[in-house]
Amino acid sequence: MYNFDFKNPVKICFGKGQITKLSKELPANKKILLTYGGGSIFKNGVYDQVKAATQGMDIVEFGGIEPNPHYETLMKAVEVVKNEKIDYLLAVGGGSVLDGTKFIAAAALYEGDDPWDICAKRSEIIVTEALPIGAVITLPATGSEMNGNSVVTRVSTQEKLAFGSTAVMPQFSILDPEVIFSLPDRQVANGVVDAFVHVMEQYLTFPADAPLQDRFAEGILHTLIEEGPKVLADRQNYEAAANFMWSATMALNGLIGMGVPQDWGTHMIGHELTAYHGIDHARTLAIVLPGMMHIRRKEKQDKILQYGERIWNISEGSVDERIDQTIQKTIAFFESVGIKTTLPDYEVPNSTIEKITNRFEERGMKIGEKVDIGPKEIQAILEDRL
Ligand code: NAP
Ligand code: FE
Repeated sequence: MYNFDFKNPVKICFGKGQITKLSKELPANKKILLTYGGGSIFKNGVYDQVKAATQGMDIVEFGGIEPNPHYETLMKAVEVVKNEKIDYLLAVGGGSVLDGTKFIAAAALYEGDDPWDICAKRSEIIVTEALPIGAVITLPATGSEMNGNSVVTRVSTQEKLAFGSTAVMPQFSILDPEVIFSLPDRQVANGVVDAFVHVMEQYLTFPADAPLQDRFAEGILHTLIEEGPKVLADRQNYEAAANFMWSATMALNGLIGMGVPQDWGTHMIGHELTAYHGIDHARTLAIVLPGMMHIRRKEKQDKILQYGERIWNISEGSVDERIDQTIQKTIAFFESVGIKTTLPDYEVPNSTIEKITNRFEERGMKIGEKVDIGPKEIQAILEDRL
Protein backbone atom coordinates (compact mmCIF):
# COMPACT_ATOMS: atom_id res chain seq x y z
CA MET A 1 0.00 0.00 0.00
CA TYR A 2 1.18 3.52 -0.74
CA ASN A 3 1.51 6.19 1.97
CA PHE A 4 -1.48 8.48 2.21
CA ASP A 5 -3.08 11.34 4.14
CA PHE A 6 -6.82 11.14 4.44
CA LYS A 7 -9.17 13.80 5.68
CA ASN A 8 -12.77 14.24 4.61
CA PRO A 9 -14.35 17.14 6.47
CA VAL A 10 -17.78 17.01 4.77
CA LYS A 11 -20.61 16.55 7.25
CA ILE A 12 -23.30 14.26 5.83
CA CYS A 13 -26.93 14.59 6.95
CA PHE A 14 -28.52 11.45 5.51
CA GLY A 15 -32.15 10.35 5.41
CA LYS A 16 -35.80 11.30 5.15
CA GLY A 17 -36.67 14.81 6.17
CA GLN A 18 -33.07 15.94 6.56
CA ILE A 19 -33.58 19.03 4.39
CA THR A 20 -35.09 20.67 7.50
CA LYS A 21 -31.53 20.61 8.94
CA LEU A 22 -30.65 23.53 6.66
CA SER A 23 -31.93 25.77 9.43
CA LYS A 24 -29.13 24.50 11.68
CA GLU A 25 -26.36 23.84 9.18
CA LEU A 26 -26.47 27.16 7.33
CA PRO A 27 -24.68 29.95 9.17
CA ALA A 28 -26.78 32.82 10.45
CA ASN A 29 -25.78 36.33 9.34
CA LYS A 30 -24.35 35.29 5.99
CA LYS A 31 -25.70 36.34 2.64
CA ILE A 32 -26.40 33.13 0.77
CA LEU A 33 -26.60 32.40 -2.95
CA LEU A 34 -28.94 29.46 -3.60
CA THR A 35 -27.85 27.83 -6.87
CA TYR A 36 -29.96 25.38 -8.84
CA GLY A 37 -30.40 23.85 -12.28
CA GLY A 38 -33.15 23.79 -14.88
CA GLY A 39 -36.11 23.62 -12.52
CA SER A 40 -36.50 20.00 -11.34
CA ILE A 41 -36.41 21.29 -7.73
CA PHE A 42 -39.65 23.22 -8.34
CA LYS A 43 -41.46 20.11 -9.58
CA ASN A 44 -40.43 17.62 -6.89
CA GLY A 45 -40.95 19.79 -3.85
CA VAL A 46 -37.27 20.15 -2.94
CA TYR A 47 -37.37 23.92 -3.46
CA ASP A 48 -40.36 24.25 -1.13
CA GLN A 49 -38.58 22.20 1.53
CA VAL A 50 -35.47 24.37 1.18
CA LYS A 51 -37.51 27.57 1.43
CA ALA A 52 -39.36 26.29 4.50
CA ALA A 53 -36.08 25.40 6.23
CA THR A 54 -34.41 28.71 5.44
CA GLN A 55 -37.16 31.16 6.39
CA GLY A 56 -35.82 34.47 7.52
CA MET A 57 -32.37 33.93 5.98
CA ASP A 58 -30.88 36.41 3.53
CA ILE A 59 -30.97 34.42 0.29
CA VAL A 60 -30.44 35.40 -3.35
CA GLU A 61 -31.25 32.81 -6.04
CA PHE A 62 -29.35 31.84 -9.18
CA GLY A 63 -30.94 29.18 -11.40
CA GLY A 64 -30.27 27.78 -14.83
CA ILE A 65 -27.05 25.85 -14.23
CA GLU A 66 -27.04 23.29 -17.05
CA PRO A 67 -26.06 19.61 -17.03
CA ASN A 68 -22.28 19.69 -17.64
CA PRO A 69 -22.26 23.19 -16.13
CA HIS A 70 -21.21 25.91 -18.50
CA TYR A 71 -18.34 28.22 -17.62
CA GLU A 72 -20.24 31.00 -19.38
CA THR A 73 -23.25 30.59 -17.04
CA LEU A 74 -21.11 30.17 -13.93
CA MET A 75 -19.30 33.44 -14.65
CA LYS A 76 -22.69 35.19 -14.56
CA ALA A 77 -23.17 33.74 -11.07
CA VAL A 78 -19.73 35.06 -10.08
CA GLU A 79 -20.97 38.54 -11.08
CA VAL A 80 -24.01 38.10 -8.83
CA VAL A 81 -21.74 36.96 -5.97
CA LYS A 82 -19.65 40.12 -6.34
CA ASN A 83 -22.53 42.56 -6.85
CA GLU A 84 -24.62 41.14 -4.02
CA LYS A 85 -21.67 40.62 -1.68
CA ILE A 86 -22.55 36.96 -1.23
CA ASP A 87 -20.49 35.10 1.36
CA TYR A 88 -22.00 31.59 1.35
CA LEU A 89 -23.20 29.26 -1.43
CA LEU A 90 -26.01 26.71 -1.15
CA ALA A 91 -26.15 24.26 -4.08
CA VAL A 92 -29.48 22.45 -4.54
CA GLY A 93 -29.40 19.96 -7.41
CA GLY A 94 -27.39 17.23 -9.11
CA GLY A 95 -23.66 16.94 -9.64
CA SER A 96 -23.73 19.67 -12.28
CA VAL A 97 -25.20 22.25 -9.92
CA LEU A 98 -22.77 21.29 -7.19
CA ASP A 99 -19.72 21.16 -9.49
CA GLY A 100 -20.75 24.51 -10.95
CA THR A 101 -21.14 25.96 -7.48
CA LYS A 102 -17.64 24.77 -6.57
CA PHE A 103 -16.32 26.65 -9.59
CA ILE A 104 -18.29 29.78 -8.59
CA ALA A 105 -16.86 29.49 -5.06
CA ALA A 106 -13.29 29.35 -6.36
CA ALA A 107 -13.70 31.87 -9.20
CA ALA A 108 -15.28 34.48 -6.90
CA LEU A 109 -12.04 34.69 -4.90
CA TYR A 110 -9.63 34.06 -7.77
CA GLU A 111 -7.14 36.86 -8.25
CA GLY A 112 -5.64 35.93 -11.63
CA ASP A 113 -6.81 37.34 -14.97
CA ASP A 114 -8.93 34.49 -16.28
CA PRO A 115 -10.82 32.16 -13.92
CA TRP A 116 -10.94 29.51 -16.67
CA ASP A 117 -7.27 28.92 -15.78
CA ILE A 118 -8.52 27.23 -12.58
CA CYS A 119 -9.45 24.33 -14.89
CA ALA A 120 -7.16 24.91 -17.87
CA LYS A 121 -3.98 25.24 -15.78
CA ARG A 122 -4.90 22.94 -12.97
CA SER A 123 -1.37 21.60 -12.62
CA GLU A 124 -0.04 25.14 -11.97
CA ILE A 125 -2.92 26.83 -10.18
CA ILE A 126 -3.80 25.34 -6.83
CA VAL A 127 -7.08 26.67 -5.45
CA THR A 128 -6.53 27.41 -1.76
CA GLU A 129 -9.41 29.81 -1.17
CA ALA A 130 -13.10 29.57 -1.98
CA LEU A 131 -16.41 30.70 -0.59
CA PRO A 132 -17.95 28.15 1.78
CA ILE A 133 -20.50 25.75 0.27
CA GLY A 134 -23.42 23.74 1.63
CA ALA A 135 -25.34 21.26 -0.54
CA VAL A 136 -28.63 19.47 -0.96
CA ILE A 137 -27.88 16.76 -3.53
CA THR A 138 -30.81 15.59 -5.66
CA LEU A 139 -29.14 12.96 -7.85
CA PRO A 140 -26.89 10.15 -6.61
CA ALA A 141 -24.08 9.76 -9.13
CA THR A 142 -21.03 11.95 -8.91
CA GLY A 143 -20.01 11.85 -5.25
CA SER A 144 -19.54 15.61 -5.64
CA GLU A 145 -21.41 16.01 -2.34
CA MET A 146 -18.45 14.57 -0.46
CA ASN A 147 -15.42 15.44 -2.57
CA GLY A 148 -13.45 18.44 -3.80
CA ASN A 149 -13.80 17.77 -7.54
CA SER A 150 -15.56 19.88 -10.14
CA VAL A 151 -15.92 19.48 -13.91
CA VAL A 152 -16.78 22.51 -16.03
CA THR A 153 -17.61 22.85 -19.73
CA ARG A 154 -16.58 25.86 -21.80
CA VAL A 155 -19.04 25.94 -24.66
CA SER A 156 -17.15 28.43 -26.80
CA THR A 157 -14.11 26.13 -27.10
CA GLN A 158 -15.86 22.74 -26.69
CA GLU A 159 -13.69 21.94 -23.67
CA LYS A 160 -14.71 20.00 -20.58
CA LEU A 161 -12.08 20.22 -17.85
CA ALA A 162 -11.83 19.41 -14.16
CA PHE A 163 -10.20 20.91 -11.12
CA GLY A 164 -9.94 19.71 -7.57
CA SER A 165 -9.32 21.37 -4.22
CA THR A 166 -10.10 20.69 -0.58
CA ALA A 167 -11.19 24.35 -0.45
CA VAL A 168 -14.35 23.54 -2.42
CA MET A 169 -15.45 20.51 -0.41
CA PRO A 170 -18.91 21.28 0.95
CA GLN A 171 -19.11 22.08 4.65
CA PHE A 172 -22.17 19.85 4.78
CA SER A 173 -24.27 17.85 2.32
CA ILE A 174 -27.85 16.79 2.82
CA LEU A 175 -28.75 13.45 1.25
CA ASP A 176 -32.47 12.70 1.39
CA PRO A 177 -33.07 9.53 -0.67
CA GLU A 178 -36.64 10.65 -1.36
CA VAL A 179 -35.25 13.04 -3.99
CA ILE A 180 -34.76 9.92 -6.12
CA PHE A 181 -38.53 9.39 -6.41
CA SER A 182 -38.74 12.07 -9.10
CA LEU A 183 -35.71 10.97 -11.13
CA PRO A 184 -36.34 9.78 -14.70
CA ASP A 185 -34.97 6.31 -15.63
CA ARG A 186 -32.26 7.93 -17.69
CA GLN A 187 -30.80 9.75 -14.67
CA VAL A 188 -31.05 6.72 -12.36
CA ALA A 189 -29.18 4.64 -14.94
CA ASN A 190 -26.61 7.41 -15.36
CA GLY A 191 -26.12 7.56 -11.61
CA VAL A 192 -25.60 3.81 -11.27
CA VAL A 193 -23.07 3.71 -14.10
CA ASP A 194 -21.18 6.86 -13.06
CA ALA A 195 -20.79 5.55 -9.50
CA PHE A 196 -19.83 2.09 -10.84
CA VAL A 197 -17.10 3.56 -13.01
CA HIS A 198 -15.84 5.79 -10.16
CA VAL A 199 -15.17 2.60 -8.25
CA MET A 200 -13.53 0.98 -11.27
CA GLU A 201 -11.15 3.93 -11.74
CA GLN A 202 -9.79 3.30 -8.24
CA TYR A 203 -10.09 -0.49 -8.15
CA LEU A 204 -9.25 -1.80 -11.61
CA THR A 205 -5.65 -0.65 -11.42
CA PHE A 206 -2.52 -2.75 -11.21
CA PRO A 207 -2.54 -4.54 -7.87
CA ALA A 208 -1.35 -2.56 -4.86
CA ASP A 209 -1.78 -5.23 -2.22
CA ALA A 210 -4.58 -3.33 -0.51
CA PRO A 211 -7.21 -5.99 0.21
CA LEU A 212 -9.31 -3.75 2.42
CA GLN A 213 -9.68 -1.10 -0.33
CA ASP A 214 -10.44 -3.92 -2.81
CA ARG A 215 -13.22 -5.23 -0.63
CA PHE A 216 -14.66 -1.76 0.00
CA ALA A 217 -14.70 -1.31 -3.78
CA GLU A 218 -16.25 -4.73 -4.42
CA GLY A 219 -18.89 -4.03 -1.74
CA ILE A 220 -19.93 -0.86 -3.55
CA LEU A 221 -19.99 -2.62 -6.95
CA HIS A 222 -22.15 -5.45 -5.59
CA THR A 223 -24.51 -2.98 -3.94
CA LEU A 224 -24.90 -0.94 -7.13
CA ILE A 225 -25.56 -4.11 -9.14
CA GLU A 226 -28.22 -5.21 -6.63
CA GLU A 227 -29.87 -1.91 -5.74
CA GLY A 228 -29.68 -0.06 -9.08
CA PRO A 229 -32.24 -2.31 -10.82
CA LYS A 230 -34.53 -2.14 -7.76
CA VAL A 231 -34.56 1.66 -7.97
CA LEU A 232 -35.24 1.46 -11.70
CA ALA A 233 -38.11 -0.96 -11.16
CA ASP A 234 -39.76 0.96 -8.33
CA ARG A 235 -38.89 4.59 -7.75
CA GLN A 236 -40.80 4.62 -4.43
CA ASN A 237 -38.61 1.87 -2.90
CA TYR A 238 -37.05 3.99 -0.16
CA GLU A 239 -34.58 1.37 1.09
CA ALA A 240 -33.21 0.74 -2.40
CA ALA A 241 -33.00 4.50 -2.99
CA ALA A 242 -31.11 4.97 0.28
CA ASN A 243 -28.63 2.19 -0.48
CA PHE A 244 -28.05 3.46 -4.00
CA MET A 245 -27.55 7.01 -2.76
CA TRP A 246 -25.01 6.06 -0.10
CA SER A 247 -23.15 3.82 -2.58
CA ALA A 248 -22.74 6.72 -4.99
CA THR A 249 -21.33 8.92 -2.25
CA MET A 250 -18.96 6.24 -0.97
CA ALA A 251 -17.76 5.54 -4.51
CA LEU A 252 -16.02 8.90 -4.71
CA ASN A 253 -15.39 10.41 -1.30
CA GLY A 254 -11.72 9.48 -1.28
CA LEU A 255 -11.87 6.46 1.02
CA ILE A 256 -11.56 3.60 -1.47
CA GLY A 257 -8.79 5.38 -3.40
CA MET A 258 -6.45 5.82 -0.44
CA GLY A 259 -3.11 4.04 -0.77
CA VAL A 260 -3.87 2.58 -4.20
CA PRO A 261 -3.06 3.63 -7.78
CA GLN A 262 -5.89 5.50 -9.51
CA ASP A 263 -6.62 5.47 -13.21
CA TRP A 264 -9.23 8.12 -14.28
CA GLY A 265 -8.37 7.53 -17.95
CA THR A 266 -11.93 6.47 -18.73
CA HIS A 267 -13.19 9.78 -17.31
CA MET A 268 -10.59 11.85 -19.18
CA ILE A 269 -11.53 10.28 -22.52
CA GLY A 270 -15.23 10.37 -21.66
CA HIS A 271 -15.08 14.11 -20.98
CA GLU A 272 -13.96 14.63 -24.57
CA LEU A 273 -16.99 12.74 -25.88
CA THR A 274 -19.25 15.02 -23.86
CA ALA A 275 -17.31 18.10 -24.95
CA TYR A 276 -17.74 17.27 -28.65
CA HIS A 277 -21.13 15.56 -28.69
CA GLY A 278 -22.96 16.46 -25.47
CA ILE A 279 -23.36 12.78 -24.53
CA ASP A 280 -24.39 12.30 -20.88
CA HIS A 281 -21.32 11.85 -18.68
CA ALA A 282 -22.16 8.32 -17.49
CA ARG A 283 -22.90 7.19 -21.04
CA THR A 284 -19.45 8.25 -22.19
CA LEU A 285 -17.97 6.11 -19.40
CA ALA A 286 -20.03 3.10 -20.48
CA ILE A 287 -18.58 3.52 -23.96
CA VAL A 288 -14.95 3.95 -22.91
CA LEU A 289 -14.52 1.52 -20.00
CA PRO A 290 -14.88 -1.71 -22.04
CA GLY A 291 -12.29 -0.38 -24.51
CA MET A 292 -9.99 0.58 -21.65
CA MET A 293 -10.28 -2.94 -20.17
CA HIS A 294 -9.61 -4.51 -23.54
CA ILE A 295 -6.60 -2.40 -24.50
CA ARG A 296 -5.12 -2.53 -20.98
CA ARG A 297 -5.82 -6.23 -20.47
CA LYS A 298 -2.13 -7.04 -19.86
CA GLU A 299 -1.39 -4.19 -17.43
CA LYS A 300 -4.66 -4.70 -15.55
CA GLN A 301 -4.75 -8.49 -15.94
CA ASP A 302 -4.67 -9.53 -12.28
CA LYS A 303 -7.29 -6.98 -11.28
CA ILE A 304 -9.61 -7.77 -14.19
CA LEU A 305 -9.44 -11.45 -13.23
CA GLN A 306 -10.15 -10.64 -9.56
CA TYR A 307 -13.04 -8.34 -10.56
CA GLY A 308 -14.44 -11.02 -12.91
CA GLU A 309 -14.29 -13.70 -10.25
CA ARG A 310 -15.53 -11.73 -7.26
CA ILE A 311 -18.19 -9.64 -8.99
CA TRP A 312 -19.34 -11.85 -11.87
CA ASN A 313 -18.34 -15.37 -10.71
CA ILE A 314 -16.10 -15.93 -13.73
CA SER A 315 -13.47 -18.51 -12.87
CA GLU A 316 -13.21 -20.88 -15.82
CA GLY A 317 -11.28 -20.69 -19.06
CA SER A 318 -7.93 -19.26 -20.13
CA VAL A 319 -6.83 -15.83 -18.93
CA ASP A 320 -7.93 -14.23 -22.20
CA GLU A 321 -11.27 -16.01 -22.16
CA ARG A 322 -11.95 -14.91 -18.59
CA ILE A 323 -11.02 -11.31 -19.41
CA ASP A 324 -13.29 -11.36 -22.46
CA GLN A 325 -16.17 -12.75 -20.43
CA THR A 326 -15.59 -10.13 -17.74
CA ILE A 327 -15.71 -7.31 -20.28
CA GLN A 328 -18.90 -8.80 -21.76
CA LYS A 329 -20.52 -9.00 -18.31
CA THR A 330 -19.66 -5.36 -17.66
CA ILE A 331 -21.17 -4.33 -21.00
CA ALA A 332 -24.26 -6.45 -20.31
CA PHE A 333 -24.73 -4.74 -16.94
CA PHE A 334 -24.59 -1.27 -18.49
CA GLU A 335 -27.00 -2.35 -21.24
CA SER A 336 -29.34 -3.93 -18.65
CA VAL A 337 -29.92 -0.54 -17.03
CA GLY A 338 -30.57 0.97 -20.47
CA ILE A 339 -27.19 2.44 -21.35
CA LYS A 340 -25.69 1.77 -24.75
CA THR A 341 -21.97 1.16 -24.98
CA THR A 342 -20.66 1.77 -28.50
CA LEU A 343 -19.80 4.93 -30.42
CA PRO A 344 -22.27 4.23 -33.28
CA ASP A 345 -25.05 3.92 -30.64
CA TYR A 346 -24.57 7.66 -30.10
CA GLU A 347 -23.91 8.48 -33.77
CA VAL A 348 -20.37 9.60 -33.03
CA PRO A 349 -18.52 9.89 -36.36
CA ASN A 350 -15.12 8.21 -36.76
CA SER A 351 -13.57 11.65 -37.25
CA THR A 352 -14.14 12.39 -33.55
CA ILE A 353 -11.51 9.80 -32.65
CA GLU A 354 -8.85 11.80 -34.45
CA LYS A 355 -10.04 15.05 -32.90
CA ILE A 356 -9.74 13.53 -29.44
CA THR A 357 -6.32 11.98 -30.01
CA ASN A 358 -5.09 15.28 -31.47
CA ARG A 359 -6.22 17.04 -28.32
CA PHE A 360 -4.24 14.71 -26.09
CA GLU A 361 -1.28 15.09 -28.47
CA GLU A 362 -1.48 18.92 -28.22
CA ARG A 363 -1.78 18.82 -24.45
CA GLY A 364 1.26 16.56 -24.38
CA MET A 365 -0.22 14.58 -21.57
CA LYS A 366 -0.50 10.90 -20.82
CA ILE A 367 -3.15 9.35 -18.63
CA GLY A 368 -3.92 6.19 -16.66
CA GLU A 369 -2.52 4.83 -13.41
CA LYS A 370 0.91 4.42 -14.95
CA VAL A 371 0.68 7.69 -16.90
CA ASP A 372 1.49 5.76 -20.05
CA ILE A 373 -1.71 6.02 -22.08
CA GLY A 374 -1.00 8.43 -24.92
CA PRO A 375 -2.75 9.33 -28.19
CA LYS A 376 -1.99 5.93 -29.80
CA GLU A 377 -3.57 3.98 -26.96
CA ILE A 378 -6.52 6.39 -26.76
CA GLN A 379 -7.13 5.83 -30.46
CA ALA A 380 -7.09 2.05 -29.91
CA ILE A 381 -9.49 2.32 -26.94
CA LEU A 382 -11.99 4.36 -28.98
CA GLU A 383 -11.61 2.23 -32.13
CA ASP A 384 -12.47 -0.77 -29.97
CA ARG A 385 -15.88 0.86 -29.41
CA LEU A 386 -16.76 1.34 -33.11
P1 NAP B 1 -26.81 16.56 -13.55
O1 NAP B 1 -26.19 17.03 -14.81
O2 NAP B 1 -26.59 17.33 -12.32
O3 NAP B 1 -28.39 16.44 -13.75
C1 NAP B 1 -28.92 15.77 -14.85
C2 NAP B 1 -30.41 16.05 -15.00
O4 NAP B 1 -31.11 15.47 -13.90
C3 NAP B 1 -30.74 17.53 -15.02
O5 NAP B 1 -31.56 17.75 -16.10
C4 NAP B 1 -31.48 17.76 -13.70
O6 NAP B 1 -32.52 18.70 -13.82
C5 NAP B 1 -32.08 16.41 -13.43
N1 NAP B 1 -32.33 16.15 -12.00
C6 NAP B 1 -31.46 16.27 -10.97
N2 NAP B 1 -32.04 15.88 -9.82
C7 NAP B 1 -33.32 15.51 -10.13
C8 NAP B 1 -34.41 15.00 -9.36
N3 NAP B 1 -34.29 14.75 -8.06
N4 NAP B 1 -35.57 14.75 -10.03
C9 NAP B 1 -35.68 14.96 -11.37
N5 NAP B 1 -34.67 15.42 -12.13
C10 NAP B 1 -33.49 15.69 -11.51
O7 NAP B 1 -26.38 15.04 -13.37
P2 NAP B 1 -25.18 14.39 -12.55
O8 NAP B 1 -25.00 13.07 -13.16
O9 NAP B 1 -25.42 14.46 -11.09
O10 NAP B 1 -23.93 15.32 -12.87
C11 NAP B 1 -23.18 15.21 -14.05
C12 NAP B 1 -22.02 16.15 -14.02
O11 NAP B 1 -21.15 15.84 -12.92
C13 NAP B 1 -21.16 16.05 -15.27
O12 NAP B 1 -20.72 17.33 -15.66
C14 NAP B 1 -19.99 15.20 -14.81
O13 NAP B 1 -18.83 15.41 -15.58
C15 NAP B 1 -19.80 15.67 -13.40
N6 NAP B 1 -19.09 14.73 -12.51
C16 NAP B 1 -18.55 15.22 -11.37
C17 NAP B 1 -17.85 14.41 -10.51
C18 NAP B 1 -17.26 14.95 -9.25
O14 NAP B 1 -16.54 14.24 -8.56
N7 NAP B 1 -17.52 16.19 -8.91
C19 NAP B 1 -17.72 13.05 -10.79
C20 NAP B 1 -18.30 12.55 -11.95
C21 NAP B 1 -19.00 13.39 -12.80
P3 NAP B 1 -32.43 20.22 -13.31
O15 NAP B 1 -31.25 20.83 -13.97
O16 NAP B 1 -33.72 20.77 -13.73
O17 NAP B 1 -32.27 20.19 -11.81
FE1 FE C 1 -17.97 10.55 -13.12
